[in-house]
Amino acid sequence: MIKEEKIEFTAKWCKYSKYKIEKKDDKFYIVADKNAIPSTYDPFDVKNQILKDLLVIGKESVENEMYKIGNREISIEAQSKMEKFQNLVLEFVNNYGLLGNFRYLPENYEFMDNGDIPVNLGNNTSVSALEFEKKYFWKDSKIDWSKTMNSNDYHRNTGLDDYFKQSEGDRLDDIIFSKNYSETIAEIINFATIIYNKKLLICAYLYDDVSEDIKEVYKESIAGYSLKEPNISYEAENGQIKFKWNFMSLSEIIETILLLNETSGRTEVKLCKHCGKPFIAENIKSEYDSIQCRNRENLNKSRQKKNNYIE
Ligand SMILES: [Zn+2]
Repeated sequence: MIKEEKIEFTAKWCKYSKYKIEKKDDKFYIVADKNAIPSTYDPFDVKNQILKDLLVIGKESVENEMYKIGNREISIEAQSKMEKFQNLVLEFVNNYGLLGNFRYLPENYEFMDNGDIPVNLGNNTSVSALEFEKKYFWKDSKIDWSKTMNSNDYHRNTGLDDYFKQSEGDRLDDIIFSKNYSETIAEIINFATIIYNKKLLICAYLYDDVSEDIKEVYKESIAGYSLKEPNISYEAENGQIKFKWNFMSLSEIIETILLLNETSGRTEVKLCKHCGKPFIAENIKSEYDSIQCRNRENLNKSRQKKNNYIE
């Protein structure tokens, strides 16, 4: 009997050696540092760390006072101006690179690439295609912003210097890896909350104490993520055949890591059953991030039992 099915996934993503925060029109952006050097890595080599680190940002955001007050978009915008969140997001990007939302959003929501037609980004947010481009490439002074760029313009204008072309890796000539590409801190926090809320929902769905009625409600919300055109192929490496997935964005990669984490029968990234902190389980069966949390939970349980007995 085959005990464990093991598929080796591989993907490539690009990051710079150093990023910085820049402010423009009262928004905070993350961009590559002027002297930073690009390199590629395989996100599946560090899949648990990426997912855990993003869940930590999502948890901080959802539990922050700002988030609990009213409009979600405004709350996240406010958080993006706070030093605590800026540091968390900058550290994440320094470790794993930017999300690649310029590619991800059009692929995951209905996107019309035409200057006159608004770009529909879900959540009732709609911007013109030109505004969408400006948002990610505002740093480039060479771009003529009077009209929407076509793909050739992107390649010409988005800062793909000679160094870039000489670099190793099959994705480095991509526009979203140019030094002029930037993402807002708010959109990275927003993505972290989406992933965290989904993880929370899955945990709640699987929790023993939940009634069947509530499970039905959760069920509806858990469904929903699908890759439109997964670009998959074989890759032979180190005497092994690997499942190669050519992702267009780190957002997609993280969605897929969560998907695999929850469905493979080996959930390694978990939320502590006592304190809710995201952690990487060394033992597949462990439910708590620390011995302290396990002891406290056991104490709660025995108190509960005692109370039930007294009643
Ligand atoms: Zn804990």
